[in-house]
Amino acid sequence: MTTATPLLEIRNATKVYGGGFLQSGSRVVALQNFSMTIPEKPAVITTIAGESGSGKTTLANAILGFINLTAGQIFYRGQDITTLTGQDATNYRREVQAVFQDPYEVYNPFYRVKHIYDMVIAHLDLGYTKSQAREVIEQSLRVVGLRGEEVLEKYPHQLSGGQRQRVMVARAYMMNPKLIIADEPVSAVDASLRAMILDVMLKLRDDLGVSFLYITHDLSTAYQIGDDIFVLYQGSIAERGRTVDVIERPHHPYVQMLINSVPVPDPAVKWGAVLEGVADESLRATVESGCRFYPRCPSRMDRCLQAMPPLYAVDGHEQQAACYLYHK
Ligand code: ADP
Ligand code: MG
Repeated sequence: MTTATPLLEIRNATKVYGGGFLQSGSRVVALQNFSMTIPEKPAVITTIAGESGSGKTTLANAILGFINLTAGQIFYRGQDITTLTGQDATNYRREVQAVFQDPYEVYNPFYRVKHIYDMVIAHLDLGYTKSQAREVIEQSLRVVGLRGEEVLEKYPHQLSGGQRQRVMVARAYMMNPKLIIADEPVSAVDASLRAMILDVMLKLRDDLGVSFLYITHDLSTAYQIGDDIFVLYQGSIAERGRTVDVIERPHHPYVQMLINSVPVPDPAVKWGAVLEGVADESLRATVESGCRFYPRCPSRMDRCLQAMPPLYAVDGHEQQAACYLYHK
């Protein structure tokens, strides 16, 4: 039991979109009562898994300060991120970096790739000479298997998707971050590059103490690299725990359904197969107060409609499932 201040702590984060007086469209609870802790040490890879629309990007955007929560708080090194100012705010923006699925949008098409790195060097303000700066850039590119001459003088559209993704990982790495929010970082790249980027994540965790929030709809990769996992269903945690425990011994009926419904021997393969494209926005609004999984649940009970089930402890180490089946 440690009492050290966590690196990141999220308490009861809730985000509701729409439903306001002047807003058209319906109200969407994108994230509900989400809590999570990432320790200062050791560095860990925490997976947020869920099908499309389950609230993963909403969570990432809240941590990065791109959106405000409707309720709940996010603390970085013990400080509410909405109250950070001055040097604390600057540190937060450097120490918490983001890598997205298709980074093309974050590039300015009119600047060569080199410009991205020059901006980082200027931002870090460490007084590097030109050749020192070049060496720092080359070193960060080596981490992701690229060489300066391959990418630096090119424009973003001249890079392959995989090169663009690696350039962004290298950029994040150069900032010497404590935490990288990686929102579907390998969803748009081919299998060999996916393995390579996942390998870089493991290396950064183990050699440099960088933690990751790894967001994915593909559980086979979570199974390969994730320490802890949170499985979201329509904005709420269905199950959490160590990744191996949750995938090998799922307890929530939703998570069991995902893993058991496809007759493939390798549990990791099943996840990948099932999570792709199973968006059920139509069912989102059908449960007002109770468990959101009720309409699809093979184990549903009357009480499930009365209130959203809290997280109950189940078998694994700190494993919990939001299901009344585990109420004792
Ligand atoms: P994921 O990343 O898991 O696919 P998101 O966090 O993007 O899920 O979305 C969660 C839910 O919130 C979805 O129902 C989505 O339609 C809704 N949503 C996301 N962003 C907005 C927005 N800016 N305005 C309204 N609804 C949104
Ligand atoms: Mg998303």
